[in-house]
Amino acid sequence: MEIEFYGAAGEVTGSCHVLRHGGRSFLIDCGMVQGGRATAIRNREDFPFDPQSLEAVFLTHAHIDHSGRLPLLVQRGYRGPIYTTAACRDLLPILLEDSADLALREVERTNRHREPGEPEAKPLFDLDDVGECLKLLRVIRYDTEYAPFPGMTVRLREAGHILGSASLEFELRERDTVRRIVFSGDLGQYDSPILRDPHPFKTADLVVMESTYGDRDHRDRSATLAELGEIIDRADHDRGNIVIPAFAVGRSQELLYLLGQHAEQWNLQRWQVYLDSPMAIKASEIYWRHPERYDEEAAYLRASFGSMPNLPNLQLTRTADESRVINSRRSHALIIAGSGMCNGGRVLHHLTHNLPRAECHVIFTGYQAPGTLGRALVDRARRVNIHGMSVPVQATIHTVGGLSAHGGQHDLLRWYDNFEGHPPVCLVHGEPEPARLLQSALQQRGAHISIPRRGDMIDLVSMRLGRVDR
Ligand SMILES: [Zn+2]
Repeated sequence: MEIEFYGAAGEVTGSCHVLRHGGRSFLIDCGMVQGGRATAIRNREDFPFDPQSLEAVFLTHAHIDHSGRLPLLVQRGYRGPIYTTAACRDLLPILLEDSADLALREVERTNRHREPGEPEAKPLFDLDDVGECLKLLRVIRYDTEYAPFPGMTVRLREAGHILGSASLEFELRERDTVRRIVFSGDLGQYDSPILRDPHPFKTADLVVMESTYGDRDHRDRSATLAELGEIIDRADHDRGNIVIPAFAVGRSQELLYLLGQHAEQWNLQRWQVYLDSPMAIKASEIYWRHPERYDEEAAYLRASFGSMPNLPNLQLTRTADESRVINSRRSHALIIAGSGMCNGGRVLHHLTHNLPRAECHVIFTGYQAPGTLGRALVDRARRVNIHGMSVPVQATIHTVGGLSAHGGQHDLLRWYDNFEGHPPVCLVHGEPEPARLLQSALQQRGAHISIPRRGDMIDLVSMRLGRVDR
């Protein structure tokens, strides 16, 4: 009985843990490592286990840093079930197909600049691999006990992070030893729009817990809403446009929901709202199709209006032509477009048209990685390069931090405090500093907290941490 840590150990992306029990091996998530050039090489590496030897995969949610290497796992021989929630099953094709598409386009770019004699680059996986992978998905209902293998039961619980996100609760029996293990998955903020709060667990012998924002708290909900309202007011007064770069899955739907909920208060009848991202439009359809996962408020709103979101002046722009028409609008266009970090996608056109105009406003609502256009704008660049053009930045740039899909330190501690008796914790999915700060906050409660590195394992009988020697 053991857990081996192969990804998101001492870092945020590439979630991948092996659970060994009763002579069988299971995988918890199979994520892509993201950010920078070196990661491309890591994603192509052999898995540190034989894909064919795995009995099953349990997937916590659809984000690429948890699911992105599943098609590769299948390409390299895995044929077992991939257990997840119904909503995750619905979202996963959108994310994996987009990821295959991006990989293909990147390889085409590389091959165009290939030196004579250099071998042709191949994408990490293609749409056929994605198709084969999707065939292996098996849905597990939330809060229902399953016994997929002898000596093992598993329950999926709400994680409140994106639609269909789950924490995993295993009970493992081996002779006289019983161990209850909880994998948090990615945890959302409490009281976030649309989704329910993370499930409060009572007991565990070991908790494997994320620590992305273990070092800080987000701005509270009411301050965040006030901030959004003020920016819309200012843009109205300036008679300009608003551009919101947003992630297609999760953030875009939360924004539409909040705009619908506050439409009157924020005078949105004066604005034309655009959701300008085919991927976000598809993801929204799935979000609106799963009201069974909503919190009370969202379920009530959906039932009263019969649909989501309640935003009459919302236009979904699917085609590139429809998107181009937005460029002619000089004022009162509120444009939500991808990508979230401005490293591609339709948002680039909107930035080219709106950044040089002092009456326009750009709102960032998520983390901007170093090296991205989004980060340059947040860091107050006076000029930026878009599609080979130098674009002056005259528009006002705002950062609204309270809409993160991840809980802050306060949320993480609140989630942990539901457990009785301070069970030991392995912290994953965090940069070293946030993980360390969450570790000391948890240690003050008297708990034993470790931060495994890649290639570490924990023996679930002795609860001792060591290195994998295989
Ligand atoms: Zn996630």
